[in-house]
Amino acid sequence: MDITRKDLLKSMACFTLAGGFLARVSETMAEAQEKTGVPVRAARIRDIEVLPYSIKTKVIVKTAFGAGAPASEGFFVRVRTEDGVVGHGEGSPFTPITAETQQSAVVMAKALGETLRGRDPFTVAHIVSDMDAFAPDNPSSKAALEMAVWDICGKLAGQPVCCLLGRFRDTFETDKTIFLEPPETMAQAALEVVRDGFKVIKVKVGQGADVDTARLRAIREAVGPNVRIRIDANQGWTPAEAVKCLRQIDKYQVEFAEQPIVRWDWAGMKFVRDNAPMPIMADESVNVEHDAIEGVRRDAIDMINIKLMKAGGILHSVRIAHVAEAANLRCMVGCMEETRVGLTAAAHLVCSQKSILYADLDAALFLAEEPVLGGMNVKDGMVVMPHSPGLGLDLDPAYLSRLRAA
Ligand code: MG
Repeated sequence: MDITRKDLLKSMACFTLAGGFLARVSETMAEAQEKTGVPVRAARIRDIEVLPYSIKTKVIVKTAFGAGAPASEGFFVRVRTEDGVVGHGEGSPFTPITAETQQSAVVMAKALGETLRGRDPFTVAHIVSDMDAFAPDNPSSKAALEMAVWDICGKLAGQPVCCLLGRFRDTFETDKTIFLEPPETMAQAALEVVRDGFKVIKVKVGQGADVDTARLRAIREAVGPNVRIRIDANQGWTPAEAVKCLRQIDKYQVEFAEQPIVRWDWAGMKFVRDNAPMPIMADESVNVEHDAIEGVRRDAIDMINIKLMKAGGILHSVRIAHVAEAANLRCMVGCMEETRVGLTAAAHLVCSQKSILYADLDAALFLAEEPVLGGMNVKDGMVVMPHSPGLGLDLDPAYLSRLRAA
């Protein structure tokens, strides 16, 4: 094969670019090594600590599931490498969705933690696969441990977790939720949320077409036309009632409707989707990627609400986002009642995925205590990301000293 002068110059340019890139990679690894004091990729996981917490909530959260507990009961995990790099994670079990209690999730996190001992944190996909083989369900236990492993990887690489996942955006908007109350009380709450700078509100419904319509009417009248409103029925309606209500509230400009009916009724979801005037989002119907495929196969949904605590962690959530992207569906990332540890991990996920266009990461705003230093924050409805390596956060030592390892 003859090589022309032009080909030669082209290949020389490629070598120069590749050389520059490789030099930058080794520079980054050297920087990372300097920052953390440990050789990159030589890490081994040594200890796993599981720390249950109970944090009072500012409000009693009421949804179509019923009234929530007066405290958020979850757990932190701290995973430490042989070289002393510590990764943080959080599990926030919610029994009606994850089928875990705080106690069961803590027990399983400890058992799963044993499978991490001696592992290289950069084999995170393999670790997730082994955790799934060990325990097919128990998503919040797995999410907590995997989150801590990603935190370690980021610290070792000297990069925020969203960069390890492939950064797509640097910031995004979150809504704030209005929980079930009489219509006038919800309208007042919505007004306060807007005064706090939020431009998107999520309204809990699911108690009946007429009372839910009254809620939307009162809220739209209170906040005016420029606030985006999305709704979440938490499986509360029948398919026929869902269609009736969604048609009634369409005039209040509802951008999408989340989980209108019971989670397992895909035919019902398709019926609602085919007859409702706005897009339909699956939440409880889609925990992991194979549920997302089911929704796509049945042509039953327009959108998916991804949660780390349902999916079992970041990698499973990324896979859901990829299924959605391939099927031209849009995603939101939501949360349970977690602190800013879980919320920051979720925010890194949002920053990494093109198909995640919406966020509902407001849980910490309802907690009466703040155990986290650094991490994501919300200002005027926009999420401000940390820039330090890993998740970019720490547990407040004063708070940590009050916790006892399980
Ligand atoms: Mg929901």
